[in-house]
Amino acid sequence: MKRLKDKIDKVFDFASRPMVIFYAISLYAVLGFGWWIYYNINASNKHFESSIAILEKTFEENNLKAEDVKGSTGYDMALEEREKSNLTVLGVGSIFILFLIWGAYKIHSGIKKELELHQQQRNFLLSITHELKSPIAGIKLSLETLYTRNLDLERQRRLLQNSLKDTERLKSLVDNILMAAKIENQSIIFTRFDVSLSKIVEESTRNIKDKFGRQRHFEIDIAPGIFVEGDSSALMSIVINLVENAIKYSLPNSTIEVSVGSTKETAILKVKDNGIGIEASEKGKIFTKFYRVGNEDTRKAKGTGLGLFIVKQLVDFHEGEIHISDNTPKGTVFTVEIPRIIPRKQLNSLEGKKIA
Ligand code: ADP
Repeated sequence: MKRLKDKIDKVFDFASRPMVIFYAISLYAVLGFGWWIYYNINASNKHFESSIAILEKTFEENNLKAEDVKGSTGYDMALEEREKSNLTVLGVGSIFILFLIWGAYKIHSGIKKELELHQQQRNFLLSITHELKSPIAGIKLSLETLYTRNLDLERQRRLLQNSLKDTERLKSLVDNILMAAKIENQSIIFTRFDVSLSKIVEESTRNIKDKFGRQRHFEIDIAPGIFVEGDSSALMSIVINLVENAIKYSLPNSTIEVSVGSTKETAILKVKDNGIGIEASEKGKIFTKFYRVGNEDTRKAKGTGLGLFIVKQLVDFHEGEIHISDNTPKGTVFTVEIPRIIPRKQLNSLEGKKIA
């Protein structure tokens, strides 16, 4: 009984109510049109029957046999009229029903997407509230302790260090939210310079290693002198988001590999982890804004579902591509491919050599 009640509640809850109303209206429209077709075909058949009855009567009045009506011109004309009318009703009706079903399907997909976005926004608000509250509470507690108690230098340092970590967490959260908002309303301005992807990855991973070096084992393999045309802070954001995810979704002491390589035309950044991995059905969805995989393992990690959305937009800006594959024996590999360039300086010196 309770299960049935839960099911009914679910059907009529805020999110699914518009769907129920929409299905009811669609069903009503399809049934209405089915009825219209049936009614018109029926009317046309009746009209045909009454025309034949009149014909038979006229035949009898003129001393002709009623059975001869079938071969007469009047009969053929009534038959033709009935067929035409039925064909028109069936044609118009079925085309309308097909349009109706197609329209309903499109609206259904639209509403479904809206509801998913609504749900994701709700999750986002919940997680962001949590993400903002816990570092602020941590910082407040540290400051209060420092203010009210006479602590030795070592303990003071530890509290300040924790507060700094919390501040950084807040800053990266706010940076991500601002970046996503700017990307959304296209107000972000990126520069396009010749930049060394090798140096950017080296610098970003050095910073992350300083922070997380004790919790994960990092293997970093960066080919030198790989250049791309782009924005260094955007490229840094790609690296930081991917490596921080690799940390977030893997166990302590596991290995995270970051590499930069290239082919003749493409710069390739790879971030590999041995973590929880991503199911095939989720791989296409995780670049959507606010999307977080709904399993327990993922929910344990803090997050807003903005990181990979930002990464994808930034990779697109660099005219690149991002792919996800499974690592062996477990975990995930993110591969970013961006068109490689030969930096102008190097090109000038090469040309200088040729002329000389
Ligand atoms: P979040 O703030 O939730 O980390 P992201 O946009 O960065 O948001 O990632 C979206 C989702 O993709 C995450 O919630 C997680 O489920 C999944 N994901 C991202 N990176 C990894 C990874 N390296 N391993 C496993 N799952 C990942």
